[in-house]
Amino acid sequence: MLSITNPANGSVIAELPEDTHESVHAKFLAARRAQPAWAAAPLATRLATIRRFRDGIVAHLERLAAVLTSEVGKPIRQSRNELNGLLGRIDFFLAETERTLAPRAVFDEGGMIETIEQVPLGVVANISAWNYPYFVGANVFVPALAAGNAVLYKPSEYATLTGLEIGNLLHASGVPQDVFAVLVGGGRVGIELLKEPVDGVFFTGSYPTGKRIAEAVAGRLTKVQLELGGKDPTYVCEDVDVAAAAASLADGAMYNTGQSCCSVERIYVHERIHDAFVEAFVQEVQGFKVGEPADETTYIGPLTRSQQVKVLQMQVADAVAKGARLLAGGHTLDRPGGHWFAPTVLVDVNHDMAVMREESFGPIIGIQKVGSDDEAVRLMNDTEYGLTAGVYTRDPARARRLLAQVNAGSVYWNCCDRVSPRLPWSGLKHSGLGLTLSTEGIATFTRPKAWHLRSA
Ligand code: NAD
Repeated sequence: MLSITNPANGSVIAELPEDTHESVHAKFLAARRAQPAWAAAPLATRLATIRRFRDGIVAHLERLAAVLTSEVGKPIRQSRNELNGLLGRIDFFLAETERTLAPRAVFDEGGMIETIEQVPLGVVANISAWNYPYFVGANVFVPALAAGNAVLYKPSEYATLTGLEIGNLLHASGVPQDVFAVLVGGGRVGIELLKEPVDGVFFTGSYPTGKRIAEAVAGRLTKVQLELGGKDPTYVCEDVDVAAAAASLADGAMYNTGQSCCSVERIYVHERIHDAFVEAFVQEVQGFKVGEPADETTYIGPLTRSQQVKVLQMQVADAVAKGARLLAGGHTLDRPGGHWFAPTVLVDVNHDMAVMREESFGPIIGIQKVGSDDEAVRLMNDTEYGLTAGVYTRDPARARRLLAQVNAGSVYWNCCDRVSPRLPWSGLKHSGLGLTLSTEGIATFTRPKAWHLRSA
């Protein structure tokens, strides 16, 4: 049985039977049988089910937000934000799928016609994370279903109730039961799923698990996409409005209790404004309301996973032992049964410290002083990750010059912690392989089939 607990207080919300080797296999076989008819249905029919799914999200938004908050500990207003943000992503897919997947005639001469058709991959596995289960799940299953695939969706064991809600809504919207199946369980069920001969593996989660997944399926030459973690840097130049930059970056570092793949995880500040920036940043952080996730005024909630408390404690102890100064937080909060960590700001940090090198995934930030743009770029690139990076400056040419040198899938000027459905979402190095979102994130759930047609 899988126990679903409330991370704010440890209370058990639900006990659910987990999928087994046999049930995973049965769901795979059923999906394999059901997929051709789903793919053969007109695209308009599939898009209509996605539109009804969107209507279902709107109709049940309050309940869905409450479920997400109860099992993940996401502050309730941020749960609503995620669901509202999801609507925009669905709208993008609804608007762009037909054009993106339309067959293209690329040659027509002397009785020879050449066309490219985008055909679905078949049955795909979608193994997902808990931190934004609607966003990261829908980035895969919405375009995958629209393109005619069947999807075996394994939500994170920390967002299982949300995963089941998604399944119920899709089925109520007209997606056949066997075309979208939810698998309940943790890593063991993920391993079972990968034993099945699926036609694509779409994973969102940590680098260590992503690497394991890539290794598990490598010999089968199956398409694999990995959306992994980050250690996302931002550089604050000396010409900024210090208070505005501090407010924006404090939010980028601490929103969702710092548990976003694109959370700001490292800040480099030009020495001329370093002290003023740090003062404004700490003031912002101290203004964040920590509290019960169901409370409308809460900004910082519990950590979703108990294991992360140790990671944050280790990063603080390591940094302080190596000379960092702790200006806020640095400790757990005494709230019985839950996993709570105070919003934490460290200065006088450097790259010998884990807090500047390893993904923190919590409400903690290291702020490092730099003397020049070149030093900032060198430090931003001194990482095994490459998801996002940002620069705050009033000077657009300087921003372009700096961001062109930074190795990251997404770069930000005067903004951070931002994802757009119109732009590809991808990471370099340990941040991943492949992409979701944008029109390329629709086409990625198909393969191009080449037609050579001679009429006589
Ligand atoms: P995780 O790697 O612990 O788990 C992710 C999923 O993999 C879960 O569903 C889990 O049950 C499953 N799993 C675990 N072991 C497995 C195995 N051996 N085989 C198959 N499946 C297995 O990650 P998490 O804690 O759920 O998510 C947090 C991580 O995800 C962070 O590193 C974060 O940065 C990253 N993330 C990345 C993006 C992105 O778009 N790049 C988005 C959200 C989260």
